[in-house]
Amino acid sequence: MHKLSISLAATAVFALVSGTASAQGYPERSITMVVPFAAGGPTDTVTRLVAESMSKDLGQQIIVENVGGAGGTLGASQVAKAEPDGYTLLLHHIGMATSATLYRKLPYDTLNAFEYVGLVTDVPMTIVAKKDFEPTDLKGLIEYVKANADKVSLANAGIGAASHLCGMLLMSEIKTSLVTVPYKGTGPAMTDLLGGQVDLMCDQTTNTTKQIKGGTIKAYAVTSAKRLDALPDLPTVAEAGLPGLQVGIWHGIYAPKGTPAEITEKLSASLQKALKDPNIISRFGELGTVPVTDAEATPAGLKTKLESEVTRWKPIIEAAGQYAD
Ligand code: ASP
Repeated sequence: MHKLSISLAATAVFALVSGTASAQGYPERSITMVVPFAAGGPTDTVTRLVAESMSKDLGQQIIVENVGGAGGTLGASQVAKAEPDGYTLLLHHIGMATSATLYRKLPYDTLNAFEYVGLVTDVPMTIVAKKDFEPTDLKGLIEYVKANADKVSLANAGIGAASHLCGMLLMSEIKTSLVTVPYKGTGPAMTDLLGGQVDLMCDQTTNTTKQIKGGTIKAYAVTSAKRLDALPDLPTVAEAGLPGLQVGIWHGIYAPKGTPAEITEKLSASLQKALKDPNIISRFGELGTVPVTDAEATPAGLKTKLESEVTRWKPIIEAAGQYAD
């Protein structure tokens, strides 16, 4: 008995020491960063920019893996179940908070299944349409949509996605339901918007700015409080008459529960460096967003944000009474 407890204690000490040692040597091989949406979309764009810069700093490649579907919950679920060794991470957005209430049978416990690395950026959304969509401004769009509700299609990336959330806000502000078309991410949804197969979408500027500037889609408003430097001619939702549509899509990096704090702290320090990388600052700027502050790009910064956002959206979603299951 005595021998057993000594050997158990020795094993525990060894595990602790070797755990610390592997955290110290971390990372020794490539890291996978899961994006819970399809390639080519806004979350993917943000992730690839940050992953490239963090890879240089960490001296190991961060490989981006797209696991789209079910509004981002499939990818989050995959990371929740992964080894907590720092080699599988998740870059998700506000959907991490809204899905906690929208999905009553989530295969993971949002607030207890992850460790936190830090916030990355808070991206405004834009209300956009296919190029030849008739209405020319937001007022015209509202009138048109109300008169043609059964004909107008609205793309989103599944229930719980930012595009779904923004679309719900739009429909509730104008008190009209539209036909929604779900995709695995707004990357493929954008392809269909460009091809004219869907009419409308609400999506992050990180996916729409280039198309808006290029005139390949039509834009009606941006969901930020102020106009964006990247799109100075685009009115805010408040200017355009829908102040209730203000929404920001915050993104954060997570690791599976049990990932050592030394690792999440190291990743957070690397994230903070990446967010000061001139290339990221200028690419984010061109895409209508900015990096968060050092204090927000920390495990505590993301934890506080996620907890407050779960609390904020719960009563709103419950009052709407619309669930994903
Ligand atoms: N913008 C998408 C959303 O609606 C996600 C994505 O494809 O990145 O949440």
